[in-house]
Amino acid sequence: MPTLKQRILTTFIVTVCAGILGVALGLWVARVVTIRMMQARLDNYAGRLVADEEAADLELRTALAAIDASEHKNCAAPEIAYLRALIFESQSLKDAGRMRAGAIACSAALGKPAQTSSLGEPEFTQQDGTAIYRNLVPYQSTGLSTITLERGDSFVVYTPMTRLHVEPEPLRFVETAMDAPTQRRGRLLGDGAAIPAQILGNEGLAQQDGTLYATRCSIRFFDCVTSFVAIPDAIAMNRAQYRETVLLCGLAGAVLGCVLALLYRRNKSLEQQLRRAVRKGRVRAAYQPIVDLHSGRVVGAEALARWEDEDGHAVGPDIFIPLAGKGGFIGELTRQMIRRVLRDFAPVLRGDEGFRVSVNVTADDLEDPQFPVWLEDLLRKEDVPAGGLTLEITEGSTVRRGMAIEAIRRLRAQGHKVHLDDFGTGYSSLSYLHDLAVDAIKIDQSFTRAIGTGSVTVGILPQILSIVEALHLNVIAEGVETQEQASYFADADLPVLGQGWLFGRPQPFAEFEKLRAERAWCAEAKVQTEEDASLLVGSGVK
Ligand code: C2E
Ligand code: MG
Ligand code: MG
Repeated sequence: MPTLKQRILTTFIVTVCAGILGVALGLWVARVVTIRMMQARLDNYAGRLVADEEAADLELRTALAAIDASEHKNCAAPEIAYLRALIFESQSLKDAGRMRAGAIACSAALGKPAQTSSLGEPEFTQQDGTAIYRNLVPYQSTGLSTITLERGDSFVVYTPMTRLHVEPEPLRFVETAMDAPTQRRGRLLGDGAAIPAQILGNEGLAQQDGTLYATRCSIRFFDCVTSFVAIPDAIAMNRAQYRETVLLCGLAGAVLGCVLALLYRRNKSLEQQLRRAVRKGRVRAAYQPIVDLHSGRVVGAEALARWEDEDGHAVGPDIFIPLAGKGGFIGELTRQMIRRVLRDFAPVLRGDEGFRVSVNVTADDLEDPQFPVWLEDLLRKEDVPAGGLTLEITEGSTVRRGMAIEAIRRLRAQGHKVHLDDFGTGYSSLSYLHDLAVDAIKIDQSFTRAIGTGSVTVGILPQILSIVEALHLNVIAEGVETQEQASYFADADLPVLGQGWLFGRPQPFAEFEKLRAERAWCAEAKVQTEEDASLLVGSGVK
């Protein structure tokens, strides 16, 4: 049986293992939760950036339309004044003007340049024909990134970074535009990281190569914003919450582990193991000889239950019988023992009427009205006379006097002998013994042990024997270990049977049968010798 120390150690190990598993699970859960949270944050950020971009775009395009619709067309002073007024009123515009033959003809900021050079090809030409240039030469002196939008012969310029009205986040983003003729999507503004094209152009969430992405697009102005963050950076941003989740899961794992360990131990507990053993018929029977003290013949056997737990340790019946009683399956154990006894002894009991096997029964068996019925059925099926099976009861099992008396009467009526076990350990009075109406008593081994020791207990033995004689009961002396003890009972005025180490220990059926045969042979030989001796005495030979 595992010791308390071993149990504590096992529980501890299981708890720690479950705790580690819990932490591992926590790491996974925390990562998933962080990713989900971060994706929502990225999506929200991208959404806000797109909304901001749309608002700015609306303003720019309104300005473009206004320039287009203006009656001033020849870059004269009134037109320049008109353009300057437009910029003055706008929050985002840095410049606005007119183009001619692919070059700036005039603008609010540049006036009417003396030298004009071609702007070259636009970086993007959008679906509605709006051309987009980045960082045109005349505006590079500011050191700020600029974007120029051109439609018809009007253009507007703005600095996108000063345009942003979005609360900054520790997240990266890129704003992209689509070049309609080539269908190529490219960076307009923001982080220049190499992001796969299918992520930039597809609205929604994505996760690739350890980075989280959220893309939102403006249907109206054809631009998209993709916000993104590397997963390790996301975890670092949520470190406290991440740690909390890991800790919580680890703790939950440890608690669960502890509960599992306790359940496991409970399952492995002796009672559970015994229950399984009884169910699977793993309780064995050992047979101890009961001997006629005069002849030395084995006249009976007591069947004693033997069991090894699942770790292979032998557990004594003084421990497991009460456990089965407490667990409510002692009845099943008794029936199993009886089935085993019949499996072993049925042929012997059919052939030798004088031989009996005793089985210990408990109060539960006596109280079970089905027990005698079951027993009768079984013996009939096995064709074994009821007289061959003795039932041993203890004083403890007869506490409910009326019930015990009735049960004993019933069993005896069926042909069984009933013996009162461990006699003398309780407080049986003469009237009690009389009422119980058993066939024999088994004198408890504490009395046998006292023989020859001068103990006061020995003084009680003659009284017990005289009660037994008065009630015409049979007697079996338990725990006979020495010749002196055997002689004490053999010399009594009434016939006493003996049981104890002196005659044989509880043993498996095959060994028991060998011992029974040897003792029968010795008894035979003794009788023969005595007969021969008396013959010699009769014939006068000395
Ligand atoms: P019990 O019915 O009084 O059985 C006799 C006990 O005394 C047995 O102990 C036996 O091994 C032991 N014994 C026999 N001769 C000697 C001896 O010379 N010296 C000593 N020191 N001991 C001796 P065991 O097998 O440990 O059984 C203990 C008790 O457990 C039994 O006492 C009986 O009350 C109970 N028991 C055993 N098997 C069963 C069973 O199948 N069903 C029930 N209900 N109880 C059982
Ligand atoms: Mg007994
Ligand atoms: Mg006993």
